[in-house]
Amino acid sequence: MSAQARSEVKALLEAFGIRPVKALGQHFLVDPNITRKIVALSGVGEGDAVIEIGPGTGTLTRALAETGADVVAYEIDGKLAGLLGEALAGRNVDLRFADAAHVDLSTELDPDRQWTMVANLPYNVGTSVVLDALRRVPQISRFVVMVQTEVAERMVSAPGTKAYGLPSVVVGVHGAGRIEFKVPPQVFLPPPSVGSAVVSIVRTPEPEGAERAIALAGAGFGQRRKMLRASLRTILEAPEWALVSAGIDPTSRAEELGVTDWLRLARVTP
Ligand code: SAM
Repeated sequence: MSAQARSEVKALLEAFGIRPVKALGQHFLVDPNITRKIVALSGVGEGDAVIEIGPGTGTLTRALAETGADVVAYEIDGKLAGLLGEALAGRNVDLRFADAAHVDLSTELDPDRQWTMVANLPYNVGTSVVLDALRRVPQISRFVVMVQTEVAERMVSAPGTKAYGLPSVVVGVHGAGRIEFKVPPQVFLPPPSVGSAVVSIVRTPEPEGAERAIALAGAGFGQRRKMLRASLRTILEAPEWALVSAGIDPTSRAEELGVTDWLRLARVTP
């Protein structure tokens, strides 16, 4: 598998006069072992449908295409077009230059196929891309994504921990997520100031009241220090009654409620 090493990425950037743009989270992966590990973990192979966000210099993209998968990749930076054209020449990749945060993946991706998102996500939109896809793009059934360690922890934390919040609830409502492995800054060019982690999420069948539970959790975590009987006033007329009906102590705080609690609360409120 021809994942790009540091020397190749450097040469490509130089040849095309590209300087990585920090605001676009352009930290390119230059360790072929990590690239291979991500692809192996994704389990994708011949004929599978893969969506990548932010192909960058095309290292992960190329490795994914070499498995025989059909890869669709969204890149915001049009300046990478020439470089990507060369790096991906002859590969089965449908490259689309667009802002992934503003494309409707639910209509852009064939709904009759099961998609896997595999990506080294840009910091600026990483969380929202994954959470929006979980909520609105049911044809993406699995995610193997690299994000900042802190973001990864927020996505997979349990109630009662500091990192537990709305992202953990969204992931927990729609799937089973876990941190697969951590990745140090040195494997990127240029190195970011924080560590990264690869997270996997496997979608589970959507439970009844999923969106309502997420809206309730949003209100609760919006004022996470307040008791729920107070914080949920922004979304419920009679929060105390609703909480008691769902068997939840009205003096508890958002961080104490697990996904099943939010779902139970959703089902007793209109
Ligand atoms: N996949 C490459 C790798 O692993 O080396 C590059 C990953 S780099 C962390 C993130 C990539 O996402 C960059 O190529 C950047 O231009 C792109 N990007 C940033 N914001 C984006 C957006 N809103 N939509 C699509 N791509 C975006």
